[in-house]
Amino acid sequence: MHFQQLDNMTLQSSSLPHTAIVVTDASIKNNIATSVSQIHIHNHPLIKMVHHAAFITSTEAELFAIRCNINQACSKENISKIIVATDSIHAAKKLFDNKSNPYQIHTTAILHELQQFFSAWQENSIEFWECPSRLNWRLHWSVDKESKLFNPQPLFPGKISWDYCKKSDSDNIINQWKMTFQASDGKGRNFLNLVNDNYEIIEPSYIKGGPWLQAFGLSNSLCARATRVITNHAPIGEYCLRFFLNKEFKYPCGLYSIETRRHILHECMRHNGYWNPRRDSLNPFIMFLSANPKAFTFNDSLLSVAPNWTWSSFFSLFSPFHFLLYSFFDWSSFFPYLSLSLISFFFIM
Ligand SMILES: [Zn+2]
Repeated sequence: MHFQQLDNMTLQSSSLPHTAIVVTDASIKNNIATSVSQIHIHNHPLIKMVHHAAFITSTEAELFAIRCNINQACSKENISKIIVATDSIHAAKKLFDNKSNPYQIHTTAILHELQQFFSAWQENSIEFWECPSRLNWRLHWSVDKESKLFNPQPLFPGKISWDYCKKSDSDNIINQWKMTFQASDGKGRNFLNLVNDNYEIIEPSYIKGGPWLQAFGLSNSLCARATRVITNHAPIGEYCLRFFLNKEFKYPCGLYSIETRRHILHECMRHNGYWNPRRDSLNPFIMFLSANPKAFTFNDSLLSVAPNWTWSSFFSLFSPFHFLLYSFFDWSSFFPYLSLSLISFFFIM
């Protein structure tokens, strides 16, 4: 659909000699950004520019390409309309961000150029079109391909942009966070390592709340149950065996004397409302929990052998540290953020 709109736009512009279509793209390899920009007028490529810069971010490279293109388009005579097609529309939006930001050196230069362009004739205009690389739209495809062709090597030590420094720091912290998560016991020995759709172990991330909460964070009860399963702090025999050796409990299935998380997830005929066997993958795991609302929920049958024992007395045994475990209860419907903070806590550890 968008592809068609881009083609229609090009077709209309091809008959207008006063319209310049500028197409930009940038890619980064070996810490060197390559930005390629091309200007088309009357359906013909007119100017192509290639720039390299070391130790800058992709947003800076994209903005620089837009800046060069607009500068070139404005310098052409009789151009009354500029159409910018870019796969980084977020970079173009920085032009209209009037807050203080690290890209102002580019945005100020571009806006200065545009001010002169608009002052020259009141009908002059500019449009920005988003053109994702995956569309392979013909005009963008060639600049995208070309920006990736180069393999430059830094010859001399160069300046490092402020934004690049911040990005490097952020990348290092995230890598350290992921290594700590995999290597340390902070997440607990019983932590359930789920995999993603590509069968890779899910790693912590701060993007959109992280991969776990993205999958089940919208439902409080689902989030509470998923948290119980992942941390193995759930109302099942395996958990009771760890903390209440002297208590008796029964397992309704009868197949095993101890009800384990693995049995419930992969074998138990009491919970087979979802057929996909890949329950070690996050999405099938969540679908299993959704299809089996009684799995990993609290009920009285588990402790029916010990009638004097209640779940509230169970929690009175915990030290202050274990107050976090309260969030495993369905109290999450009253305190939804307890579960969220709990799972965040484990992941941050
Ligand atoms: Zn069973």
